[in-house]
Amino acid sequence: MATPGPTSSPSNIRLAGARDLIHHRASHMKELMERINPKLKNIFQTKNDVYTISCSGTGGMEASVTNSFDKNDKVLVLSNGYFGERFRTICEHNALNTLVYEKEWGAEFSLAEVAEIYKENPDLKGVFVVFSETSTGMINPVKEIAALFKKTEVLVVVDAISGLIVNELLMDEWGLDIVIAASHKGFMMAPGLTFVGISDKAWSKIDQTNSSAYYFSFTRLKQFFPFASASASVSLLLSLEESLSMIEDIGSGTLLVQQKQIALAAQRALNALGFILFVDKPIYRSNAVTSALAPEGIDTQKLLSQLETEFNLSITGGQGIFKGKMIRVGHIGYIDELDLYAVFGAIERALIQLGAEFPLGVSSKAIQEVFVRGGK
Ligand SMILES: *Cc1c(COP(=O)(O)O)cnc(C)c1O
Repeated sequence: MATPGPTSSPSNIRLAGARDLIHHRASHMKELMERINPKLKNIFQTKNDVYTISCSGTGGMEASVTNSFDKNDKVLVLSNGYFGERFRTICEHNALNTLVYEKEWGAEFSLAEVAEIYKENPDLKGVFVVFSETSTGMINPVKEIAALFKKTEVLVVVDAISGLIVNELLMDEWGLDIVIAASHKGFMMAPGLTFVGISDKAWSKIDQTNSSAYYFSFTRLKQFFPFASASASVSLLLSLEESLSMIEDIGSGTLLVQQKQIALAAQRALNALGFILFVDKPIYRSNAVTSALAPEGIDTQKLLSQLETEFNLSITGGQGIFKGKMIRVGHIGYIDELDLYAVFGAIERALIQLGAEFPLGVSSKAIQEVFVRGGK
């Protein structure tokens, strides 16, 4: 798999989940959570507790809406991709008064325009933004966006589901109020757990909100903490402990450097094969996934099905209007230089079968140039 979630998961993480079950109210569970929680806080870079919920990432997105906002609360959704659209749908579904600042997929938001929208809507209660927009491979400048609202009552809610761990994110320092992440992205785990960091500012709003959430209630999560508010996903929590230890052993600084290098190598390899990178400016390229438009005459749906049937390799294509035109190579989670040679070797072979022409081995060469010479 070279997809932006689920990602490849190392066997030690998966096998950790095969250990004996423990009861979700037992003292062993408390000890397990007390080993997990400080590491999670460290990953989010927050002093506050980070809550773990049994659900996929979308559950965390929905919970952030239903716990923190009342019907008719005015919120602003920044949308420049598939997951921005999902935030919008969830907000509308919960009858929030939803303003949308929409940009074309992959286009940057203007901070001045965000500030202007706030000026025109001083009754704004929340802003929703996706950190690493998985549909385009773009990083949105959440630090700068949050800075606009730091001294206000407006909550900044961030979908960092694919972005956390592989791109730098400092929850407290940047003034982010709700940050959502999930197990099957940077944590290199199976899907099934979602993590939510909640600021003090967000808690005061949550405490005033008339939420109908029960299973997804943040207040109940807090009451039961460090236990889960219902049966916990014990096996996944055992895997999580292993994942967090691995991440800690590598070190978050080293991990970021490695991820950046892997992303750069993937970008160069795609260029070498005649693809056009979708995100123009290097600073807006996510380390989680690289999306690129195919060379003239190549149907990416054919390319991807070829990769699947011949090499048993899963890569994702474009969503929405980019179906058939785009490929999205995921390089988040458990992936290294060696994997890149395999992934791009297979892409080269499939492209040749589809009639593309380039000197053999160009993508491996591009990858080596990054690892040997730092991409110069
Ligand atoms: C994966 C992902 C999600 C959540 O998807 P689930 O399938 O519910 O886990 C949300 N936002 C982004 C940016 C993602 O990459």
